Amino acid sequence: MSRSQRALFIDWGGTLALTRHNRTVVDEAGHPVLMDNVAATLARERPRFDVCFIVSNQARISRGEISETEVTKRFVWANEQLGGPFTGWRLCPHTDADGCDCRKPKPGMFRDLARLYDVALSASTHVGDSEKDRDAAMAAGVGTFVWARDFFGWDSAPGRP
Ligand SMILES: [Zn+2]
Repeated sequence: MSRSQRALFIDWGGTLALTRHNRTVVDEAGHPVLMDNVAATLARERPRFDVCFIVSNQARISRGEISETEVTKRFVWANEQLGGPFTGWRLCPHTDADGCDCRKPKPGMFRDLARLYDVALSASTHVGDSEKDRDAAMAAGVGTFVWARDFFGWDSAPGRP
């Protein structure tokens, strides 16, 4: 059976949402601060894909520093703010020590989504800001990897203030 859907997989921290010291920066209302040009870029690029997913390592869940519910609430909020571009999301709550198959650079999250949503990985794209993102995309057979700074047209490298 050949899979048919083209997916846009997008990393969260440092790609969609501003992070500092590996944590999502939140505003006074507790909402994540989205990176520059995210809304305009997704409005332009999202129609080129059939489905779109946030794919995020969230090791702070394993360390008890944040709940999975809170992380999911942030994804839901971002989806509402951006006009509903996301078909869904996957997060890995584990740390390196857990040896799971989902923590990027492992390909598990991409493979799960591909199976569930009939995604043609070779025709799909991953946008991320780290080598773990790039390596996970490669391991999963995602056809295209784009650095977040190029996708969103940032002038400076990731890790802005
Ligand atoms: Zn995991």
